[in-house]
Amino acid sequence: MKIYNLGKTGIPVSELCFGALPLGPLQKKIDPETGAEIILKALEGGVTFIDTAQLYQTYEPIRQALKQTRIRPVIASKSMAPDAQGMQAAIDGALREMELDYIDIFHLHAARVPAGEDVFKTRAGAWQALLDCKKQGIIKAVGISTHSVPAVNLAAARDDVDIVFPIINKNGTGILHGDTARMIAAINRCREHKQGIYLMKALGGGCLVNDYHCALSFVRELFPLPIALGMVSLKEVEYNLNYFNADPEAAAKLPPPAAASKCFQVIDFLCKDCGECIKTCPNLAISKPAPDLKPEINPDLCLRCGYCVGFCPQFAIRMT
Ligand code: SF4
Ligand code: SF4
Repeated sequence: MKIYNLGKTGIPVSELCFGALPLGPLQKKIDPETGAEIILKALEGGVTFIDTAQLYQTYEPIRQALKQTRIRPVIASKSMAPDAQGMQAAIDGALREMELDYIDIFHLHAARVPAGEDVFKTRAGAWQALLDCKKQGIIKAVGISTHSVPAVNLAAARDDVDIVFPIINKNGTGILHGDTARMIAAINRCREHKQGIYLMKALGGGCLVNDYHCALSFVRELFPLPIALGMVSLKEVEYNLNYFNADPEAAAKLPPPAAASKCFQVIDFLCKDCGECIKTCPNLAISKPAPDLKPEINPDLCLRCGYCVGFCPQFAIRMT
C-alpha cells in the first residue's frame, strides 16, 4: 500500500482511506460490531486512514475497531456546525465517542460557497473553534470537505487551511459551481500551496462502481493522492486492498463491489415542507417542482450520500 504525506502537515496516510459513511444509519445501517470487524480488516490489510463525520454516526464501530488493534490510524472527522459552540460540541463528542486524546484532522463539513460567499466568513465561529483546538493540540490539522470548486479555490488562498477534501471523479458527478477541469485546477492550486489533499467520491457515490478500474485509474493518474472509498463488507475491503496493494490478479478473482442500487425519495404524505433537506443536500439535488408541491430528489444529481435523511425532522426521506 502506498503511503502519502498530507502536504505540509507531513501526516503519513495510506493511499486507500476507509470512508465510514456507508456503514452508518444514513446508508447501510450496519451494526457497530460488524462495522468494527470491517474496519479492522482494512486496518490489518494496510489502511492507516479513516474518514468519518459527526453526521455519519459511525464513531462507535471505529471505537470498537481501535480497541481490538494496536494500529492507531489517522482519523479525519468533520461537522456541519455553523458556529463556534456547535463545532466545539462536535469536537468534544468525537473525542469522547471514539475515546481519543486527539483527532488528526477536523473539517468544516460540506463547505459550500453559494453566489460569491466566503464559507470562512459565513462559518467564521466554527472555523475559529477548529483553529483554537489545533492550538491546544486536540486537533493536529484543520480543513474543509467540499463539492464546490470556489470553496477549494478559497482554501488554496489561505495559510491556515492544512487539508482539503474535495470531490473528483471521471464523470464530474457531484462537482458544484464548476466542472472537472476547474476542480482539477483548484486542487492543483492547493497542492502548490503545500496543502494536504485527499479525494472523495472517485466512484461517484457508487454510480461508477461498475466501471471501478477505469474510474479509479482516472483519479490515480491525475493525482498521487489518497482516495476515500466507502466499504460495507469484508469482501469489499478485500477487493479494495488487492487493488490498492497492486495485486490486480487477486482483485480479478473476487466479484467487484456491488453497484449501488438504492435511491432516495421524499415520502410526500410524511413531508411537512420545512425545506431543511433542500438546504442540506451537498449536491443541490433536492428542489420544489412548484411552490405548492413538496420537494423532490433528482435521481440524476443525487449522490446517494444520505445526508438529507439525517436532517429531515419528519423521517420523510427514505431509501427505496
Ligand atoms: S438528495 Fe442530496 S443529500 Fe440526499 S442522498 Fe441525494 S445527494 Fe445526498
Ligand atoms: S426535510 Fe423532510 S419534512 Fe422537511 S421538506 Fe425535506 S422531506 Fe419534507
